[in-house]
Parts: sequence; C-alpha cells; structure tokens
Amino acid sequence: MFALPELPYPYESLAPTLSEATLRLHHDKHHAKYVETTNSIFKESEPGATLESVIRSAQRSGAGKLFNNAAQAWNHGFFWECMRPSPREPGGRLAQAIDRQFGSLIGLKMLFVQEAAAHFGSGWAWIVARGGDLSVVATHDAASPIGDESAIPLMTCDLWEHAYYLDHRNDRASYLDAWWNRLANWRLAETQYAAAQGEGAAWRYPDPK
Ligand code: FE
Repeated sequence: MFALPELPYPYESLAPTLSEATLRLHHDKHHAKYVETTNSIFKESEPGATLESVIRSAQRSGAGKLFNNAAQAWNHGFFWECMRPSPREPGGRLAQAIDRQFGSLIGLKMLFVQEAAAHFGSGWAWIVARGGDLSVVATHDAASPIGDESAIPLMTCDLWEHAYYLDHRNDRASYLDAWWNRLANWRLAETQYAAAQGEGAAWRYPDPK
C-alpha cells in the first residue's frame, strides 16, 4: 500500500500565497483520494514495486485509471517538495545552466509562467532536465515526465483549479507569479539537477508498505 506522505511543512506556512484551507483540501482530500484509488486498483504489490514503476507500467499497458491516479499521487508528492516557506534562489551549476539557456532566472520565469498561464484546462507545469539540458513543459491532466526515464523533473506547479481557486479565484497568472516568487524550492531543483547528471539520487515517492 502506498501512503500519503505528510506535508513537509505546517499547513499554514505557505500563506498568503496558499492558505491553510487550500492545503488541507488539496493534501488531505485530493492527494489522499489519488493515493486511495491507486491502492484500490493496485492490490497485488509485486516485490520491489515503486510508484514510479507502477506509473511506467500503467503507461505502457494503457491502464488509464491506474495511470491517472498513480501519476497524480506522484505529482502531488513531488509538488509538496517543490515548495518551501521563504526559499532562496538557485545557486551553483543549476544557476549557471539557467543563465546559459534562458539568459537569467527572470527569463526562465517568463517562459514558465507563460507556458503555465496559457495551458488549457487542468495539468502541470514542469522544469525538466535531460542530462544538463533544461526545458519547460506543461502536461495535461495527470501526465507526468516521470513516465519517461530519461527525464528528471526539477520543479512542478499544479495547474488544476483546486490548487489555487480558494486563494486566487480564477486568476491563474496571479497564483503563478506569487508561487514562483515566494514558494519555489530551488534547493530541491539543485539536487534533481545533479541527479540528472548522475550525481546522487532523484526524489522518489516513499516505498509502499
Ligand atoms: Fe492538485
């Protein structure tokens, strides 16, 4: 059985960008439901199965309901880690790669926010690394770069309305701007970027028990 990971910070600590009410609803109801549904479908856990392997095999076999719920469980687990109260800006080799590819952190922000704001309907905005190469992508519904073993996500922002409606109503652009400026966790992005180059491990969803 896959577990619902605890939020890595107190529920009220991302306010005012994301309120305690939003996090309680988003984590305790939406994320919990994806985990519960994944467990209800994936009853026979093979030895050594991980959520990542479940997602990839559901993607290969076209098991849509399992894929949607397992990928949403993973995406949310990763999303909580992509935020911190009062984060610092990226440094080191990631900062150099951002400057090289996007001109500056502001250049990357403009691209990310533009892609995310223009994305039609529900989904996720991502910064993904393939080796040292960075790209910005948006995926529909539950779709996740974790289905592709050559890609390592560095950052994601939830574009489903349940992520921001209580705090920002339908103003996705205001959510994205505040989220990027106040919550984006570059410390995680740095360790993911190192992992994309074979140094250290990328973030994984907690193993089933
Ligand atoms: Fe969500």
